[in-house]
Amino acid sequence: MTSRRRDRSGVEFPAEVGDDPPQSCPVCGYILKATGRCPECGASPETITSLDRGARRRIGATVTAFWILVALYLPQCWIFLMPGSWSLYRWSWIEIWPVMPGFIPGLVGGRMLFDVGWRDPLAIAMMAAATVGLAVGAFFIARRGPRRRVIVCWGLFLAGAVHGFILYGLYAA
Ligand SMILES: [Zn+2]
Repeated sequence: MTSRRRDRSGVEFPAEVGDDPPQSCPVCGYILKATGRCPECGASPETITSLDRGARRRIGATVTAFWILVALYLPQCWIFLMPGSWSLYRWSWIEIWPVMPGFIPGLVGGRMLFDVGWRDPLAIAMMAAATVGLAVGAFFIARRGPRRRVIVCWGLFLAGAVHGFILYGLYAA
């Protein structure tokens, strides 16, 4: 038995860290290229190695969930940033903000399946389902590693930006 182990990036960790050495900082998710203090958040090597597998997993899941929510909802913040008055029309869009990441799937699904417009409760329910589906699907892909998390969150963010741009077109029409 060797006394040290290597992770996929070739970084050596003491054997007592176990079969699952941290490839990323357990505190902030930064991809660690060497042992020692995390260059991103400054977590000490003691902190990094003291967290057991379960604790790292819980923190990783929280960080992943946080970034997915940011990537999903940040591009839909246009409705709050638009110039112009806070009209009832605008508030009618803000009302559906929680399901806005799934707006277009819900709109298309509501039209095709139920032949209803986007303000129909059936369409709103489909937007909610699409939003939850996106968030959960992205979570399970992103939690498999820090690189996947970066790719998934950027993908969500860029798709969301295009989506938000189309919605703004509908809003302003
Ligand atoms: Zn860190």
